[in-house]
Amino acid sequence: MLSLEQAREAILAEITPAATTETVSLAQAHGRFTAQELRAQVDNPAFDNSAMDGYAVRAAELVAAGFVLPLRGESRCGDAPGKLAPGTTMRIFTGAPMPEGADTIVIQEDVKREGEKVVFPKSAQPGSHLRRRGEDFRRGDMLYPAGRRLSSYDLALLSAAGVAEIPVCPRARVLVAATGDELVTPGTPLRPGQIYESNRLATLLLLRELGMEAVDGGTVRDDPAALRELLKSSANFDFVITSGGASVGDRDLVKQVFAEIGQIKFWKVKIKPGKPIAFGRVGSRTHFFAVPGNPVSSLVTFKLFVEPALIAWHRGVPRMPQLAATATNDFRRHPGRTEFVRARLATENGKLQATALRGQGSHMLGTLRETNGFIRVEADSAGFRQGDTVTTIPLNVDF
Ligand code: AMP
Ligand code: MG
Repeated sequence: MLSLEQAREAILAEITPAATTETVSLAQAHGRFTAQELRAQVDNPAFDNSAMDGYAVRAAELVAAGFVLPLRGESRCGDAPGKLAPGTTMRIFTGAPMPEGADTIVIQEDVKREGEKVVFPKSAQPGSHLRRRGEDFRRGDMLYPAGRRLSSYDLALLSAAGVAEIPVCPRARVLVAATGDELVTPGTPLRPGQIYESNRLATLLLLRELGMEAVDGGTVRDDPAALRELLKSSANFDFVITSGGASVGDRDLVKQVFAEIGQIKFWKVKIKPGKPIAFGRVGSRTHFFAVPGNPVSSLVTFKLFVEPALIAWHRGVPRMPQLAATATNDFRRHPGRTEFVRARLATENGKLQATALRGQGSHMLGTLRETNGFIRVEADSAGFRQGDTVTTIPLNVDF
């Protein structure tokens, strides 16, 4: 059985990244992954300009003129102010271009206007309150590598850098299906032995949050013919994710049919919950995940395996931030597998704290109400005690 790290490495080694690219506008690029590196089209700032409202001068002239200069002209935003006449000062506003020859801004609060003359303080620092051309970035500078998922801030920077269109990876097409004879969708009453299905919806929505094109493949019965049909339709997808039917019960047919139609790279990982996960390929395009049916197992394996696989497919570098926290309670267990304990993360006086929640059964969804992260317990560990430093994986930043 593979360890967590071995399984993650095996997945990354097996991913065939997106073969095509598409070009989209800045606004459409939000949340998309860059398909190639992006470079600045202009210098930023594009020209020397003033950081403050004030007066532009040649610092050396101030002393010679006894700190009083006649006012000549004005530089507003959008102007091309020309030259600063020798022995004069020019009114200037924040962001307006420096007139040629000026080297210093004196802020308006520090001067006195006397008719058409400006009286300066004796302490004006040469070169102050200037924004220099290109001090932020220069035309041609590499701003982002390929595989960067673009945020609002990234797009603000790219807009300022004059980038109008962005080559991005297409969205991965992902087919999601639940398997199990017992599963029904809410809206119809349960007959004996039936349960309401939840993994398919969660998986579809998690995929959409990641910007994927997620397609609902419905619920498939525990029947080899139905499963074969599903897997045969996988050729149009970059990923297929099924939940359920991947363990060792007689009705756990997903793995068997998967092995028949595709190629299983691994089955079972030494983690808890989520041990019976299978990963492999179907045809030359499709990556296949059979995640376990228990709702919490499906959530954990999505986070640990599916998410990094999708990011790698978009040429990104998967990261799973792990933050040290102080445990607020005890958690004891038998060593064996790397465990992901559903936890509530909170900050107290700027320090991260983690509480192991009650109700850790992998069928228990109630605990999810409070869950905003996992505590990671290493395979050889017997757990932790209140006050111990533990490793946590935040699921969102709502703490
Ligand atoms: P399986 O992986 O098929 O052996 O299922 C393990 C457990 O998860 C069983 O109790 C199933 O009823 C339950 N289960 C399987 N699929 C789903 C699903 N899509 N939503 C909720 N529970 C499920
Ligand atoms: Mg099942």
